[in-house]
Amino acid sequence: MATVTVRRRELDFWEKTYVKEVGRGLAITFRQLTKNLLTREDVATREYPEVRRKYPERFRGRHRLMRREDGTVRCVACMLCSTACPANCIHIVAGEHDDDRVEKYPVSFEIDLLVCIYCGFCEEACPCDAIRMDSGKHPLPSFTRDMQRIRKHQLLEEGGLSVAEQGGRSK
Ligand code: SF4
Ligand code: SF4
Repeated sequence: MATVTVRRRELDFWEKTYVKEVGRGLAITFRQLTKNLLTREDVATREYPEVRRKYPERFRGRHRLMRREDGTVRCVACMLCSTACPANCIHIVAGEHDDDRVEKYPVSFEIDLLVCIYCGFCEEACPCDAIRMDSGKHPLPSFTRDMQRIRKHQLLEEGGLSVAEQGGRSK
């Protein structure tokens, strides 16, 4: 088998000191630094939470419970969302409503966000447009696991008015 001898070029004195290459590297670094400071063109970092990304319309964020025109919660505690939930993280306790036409309401409504997989099945299953995931917000960081169990009053704080017809289109 033939042997090929590769001749390496001898480095001169300045090349051996790497001064020139270190200088070139620093020049690139400072050129990029100056450009980023002055134009911020290539800066990928966002100053969250002051600067937030615009999410697509269909982004599934933190859940919210919607209200009727009289301000009451639209949820009728039918349990369809908790039945559809593949993560089993919706816990509802139903109570009798004073209004016979409504029948039930959620005495308590909790979602464990640490277990939720943000699939959106709950809002798909809801026949009353009572639960939505269109808040455009992430779950908040917390110090304890319990803080990730969001309760009815928190879900209602995020909520808004819905005048959708039951089983019909949301408005
Ligand atoms: S988004 Fe999915 S996992 Fe989360 S509560 Fe709704 S149904 Fe359950
Ligand atoms: S949020 Fe909707 S699906 Fe879930 S219990 Fe209430 S009315 Fe039923």
